[in-house]
Amino acid sequence: MPAIHKLLVANRGEIALRIMRTAREMGIQTVAIYSEADRNALHVRYADEAVCVGPAPSSESYLRADTIIDACKRLNVDAIHPGYGFLSENAAFARQVREAGLIFVGPSPESIEVMGSKLAAKAAVAGYDIPMVPGTPSAITDRAEAKAISAQIGYPVLIKASAGGGGKGMRVVENDAEFDEQMDRAVSEAISAFGDGSVFIEKYVTSPRHVEIQVLGDQHGNIIHLFERECSVQRRHQKVVEEAPSAILTPDIRDAMGRAAVDVARACGYYGAGTVEFIVNDQLDFYFLEMNTRLQVEHPVTEQITGVDLVKQMIYIAEGKPLTIRQEDLHIKGHAIEVRVYAEDPTNNFLPDVGTLDTYVRPQGNGVRVDDGFEQGMAIPIYYDPMIAKLVTYGDSRDEAIQKMIRAIDEYQISGVQTTLPFGRFVMEHEAFRSGQFDTGFVASYFKPDMLTTASPDPNETRVAAVLAAWLLETTTPRRSEAVSSVPIASKSKWKTNRIG
Ligand code: ADP
Repeated sequence: MPAIHKLLVANRGEIALRIMRTAREMGIQTVAIYSEADRNALHVRYADEAVCVGPAPSSESYLRADTIIDACKRLNVDAIHPGYGFLSENAAFARQVREAGLIFVGPSPESIEVMGSKLAAKAAVAGYDIPMVPGTPSAITDRAEAKAISAQIGYPVLIKASAGGGGKGMRVVENDAEFDEQMDRAVSEAISAFGDGSVFIEKYVTSPRHVEIQVLGDQHGNIIHLFERECSVQRRHQKVVEEAPSAILTPDIRDAMGRAAVDVARACGYYGAGTVEFIVNDQLDFYFLEMNTRLQVEHPVTEQITGVDLVKQMIYIAEGKPLTIRQEDLHIKGHAIEVRVYAEDPTNNFLPDVGTLDTYVRPQGNGVRVDDGFEQGMAIPIYYDPMIAKLVTYGDSRDEAIQKMIRAIDEYQISGVQTTLPFGRFVMEHEAFRSGQFDTGFVASYFKPDMLTTASPDPNETRVAAVLAAWLLETTTPRRSEAVSSVPIASKSKWKTNRIG
């Protein structure tokens, strides 16, 4: 059985660090790759060895399969973990890794290929009893026929790119009159984003919730699921707040979705960690959307409620070890929430707001996990995804996790860029989120930019407040008890600045 001694992480930022931490715990040597823009990045400093793979643009660095495989050979690496994004769902890369005699910490190239196409995925699971959204089973070639099908399943419908990802190439069509225009847009978006213009039609599920199931499969045919993550708070069809478990699933529905997810994985001979995405309507009917054949951004919430280190399991599976966790061993304990901290301006349509982290102080304490890849003073490169961190809180109950999230957001100090933190706080305090009665329309239905404070944080203000607070402590400390009572002055001034930022 091939044991992994040295692992190259073909990624950057928080996920590279997160993977290396587990590798280090397992006694595995780590190799980082980096672009010229990431020379001083934390993942580079953390790794035992690091290799520059090219200039800043990812097409010239993090996506250079040959350069990465060459580095593995030079450094006697025996396995590659691709993280998420970049080469993680690239079947050709997985194949190249295998052909170079290296271990790919992920599924087989064949599974990636099937699940990488939404249409091929639907075809693969057709033999199983998996509920699917009504729609066309193959790519649309005849517009007149597509219109007829849309009328039959009933508007609104969704035109989707088969090769789609990241919400691209997806268009809602409200009626017959706008069909052609939306179709043209979806096709051209799909061609420019994925080089493949195949699109198909799905019924647009109203009040949809995005609920996904984490699965783990080994190379011996054992597949288990690790319950669900609810990812319905989205902007631009992209997740921003996730939680586990979902506030609305009953044990019976959870069980049925878990079994369906295991079947989807079985349908493509899956091994590794994967995620089966479903859409759930207001009657709690669920439909298979797609499978992501990699570690997800939001995997920490599952780790918190199950106690399973998913990266460790991925490594064991890649080594050929059989799963030691049985389905009946798994139980949901407590509740976890993740807020993605993006360098984006929620008051300006969530547009990226890259810059330098003039102030960067992480929250700490019981039930708080921060997965990030930055330090104070670092710049957020314009070349990559503008996610700064994943802020995860964990409590005995959903309410406790929410309260911890509010506390952690208030402690998080970031200035120099706008972030999604104030938006995260808005979500945590919103009645719809608190009651669990929300869907993917949360942002459109409830969020208006003027609900957040718009002023830019002034780092000088923080410094002045801190100096003033320190001065107050110094000059008004005749007795211990009074010193303690002056602490909130310092804290409050920081919190105020943080809320703006
Ligand atoms: P992508 O691969 O681009 O992320 P998905 O198929 O995973 O595309 O869908 C992304 C999001 O789009 C879902 O989380 C959901 O919010 C919305 N969506 C997808 N399919 C439907 C549908 N049939 N009805 C309503 N919303 C949908």
